[in-house]
Amino acid sequence: MRPFISLKSIEERINGEGLEIDAVPLAQILALDKTPVYVTSLNAVSQRLNKYKEALSCHFMHNEIFYAMKANFATPILKTIVKEDFGIDIVSIGEWRKAIASGIHPKKICFAGVGKKETEWKEALLGGLGNLSVEHLTELSDILDFLYKEKNLNSFEKKVLVSLRLNPAVEVETHPHLKTGALNSKFGILYEHFQTWLKAKKLQFTSEDLFLKWINPLKGIHVHIGSQLTENSIFPLVVKKVLDCAHFMYENKIFVQHIDFGGGLGVGQNGVPENGEDIFKHVHFVCNAFKEESKKYPKLLSVWNEDYSNLSVCMEPGRSVVASSTIFLTKVLYEKRNSVENIFCYVDGAMNDFPRPSLYGAIHHAELVNYNIKKLQQEDFNHFSWNVVGPVCESGDFLAKNAILPQIHKGDIIAFFEAGAYCRSMASQYNLRELPSEIFVRDGLITDII
Ligand SMILES: *Cc1c(COP(=O)(O)O)cnc(C)c1O
Repeated sequence: MRPFISLKSIEERINGEGLEIDAVPLAQILALDKTPVYVTSLNAVSQRLNKYKEALSCHFMHNEIFYAMKANFATPILKTIVKEDFGIDIVSIGEWRKAIASGIHPKKICFAGVGKKETEWKEALLGGLGNLSVEHLTELSDILDFLYKEKNLNSFEKKVLVSLRLNPAVEVETHPHLKTGALNSKFGILYEHFQTWLKAKKLQFTSEDLFLKWINPLKGIHVHIGSQLTENSIFPLVVKKVLDCAHFMYENKIFVQHIDFGGGLGVGQNGVPENGEDIFKHVHFVCNAFKEESKKYPKLLSVWNEDYSNLSVCMEPGRSVVASSTIFLTKVLYEKRNSVENIFCYVDGAMNDFPRPSLYGAIHHAELVNYNIKKLQQEDFNHFSWNVVGPVCESGDFLAKNAILPQIHKGDIIAFFEAGAYCRSMASQYNLRELPSEIFVRDGLITDII
């Protein structure tokens, strides 16, 4: 399923009407002659974000959805976030600057990142950042020292909420490059390390009051265990680790007010359900696991209250918000048959434009959505196993291996689906190729052309 995208019959594909996205016909997009191009339905983005909000609001009265902009940082998407009043998860100072320039309120930004420079977190703090996730104990000390300084204390203390990014040391099923919460992962802080650090820090202060004043901005726990997760059975273990850490903090008079469960929900090759069922399932599972487990921590519940009115719970979805909102359209240049098994379709898009197949071995569903030839022969409907390749000078440059497609002709248009996340945002200028274009649509209108 791809909400807001409708794929048409073969007959309609011959007339350039092979697809409609957010009520904009393909012919209108092809008339702009922009291939290779990403086309995004902004309604699809809004709909998915609102499903997250709806689901999380069922469990916690104080909640926030921070959209992880690294999945797709196009300005029209960020403007949609502003309009719909969501937050943004950023992982670099470049993302901070773009988010601010797009009109996101700094309080609604959450800054995570495993290798922040001092100049970077300072710039964000000075700009009024709302949430800062810390991934190293040295970084935590530096940030708390900075906030503790008299002149900074008054100006920042009430503004920024610092969270510990916990590495829960759990193994999840996903591509090795997408795991972020395992023992062999560079992300986050191990609970044991935090315990040792806290005990040692306490001893450096002359009184407990001074220590508590220093540590005061630390009020949250953050976990993000990986991306493109296809099953969530690990979450009960993750919430247990979060609660253990919150309990340890409580025992040290640090009261956790903010828990962020990160992003990670995966999107399959067939898209997402029309009604956001996948989001509800994921959010309910995580929240129910948390609520169930937290019953075992009466001291924490006494701080949060039975209805969790003293706790804010957040999520940071990226991929699952934007993946199915977008198609990647590329035009056929040539075909070539080296042997019966090795047939190539050369298109104008390449690994630099659409990097996930070559980078992660990702499979994106492909369809021939516009036949350039108006009179098709019977044999044109026979299907073959195509290697769809681009013009980059490297054998790793492919968009699909063994894609089952009919006979292909010069000028045909192939659409790749689930192209909204980690595709355009990972595009490069390798071979000094131009970056691919982007078109945004909403309610039957083209709203932006980039
Ligand atoms: C990338 C990232 C996300 C989003 O992950 P998705 O798999 O796209 O949902 C959320 N939080 C942090 C800290 C991230 O780095």
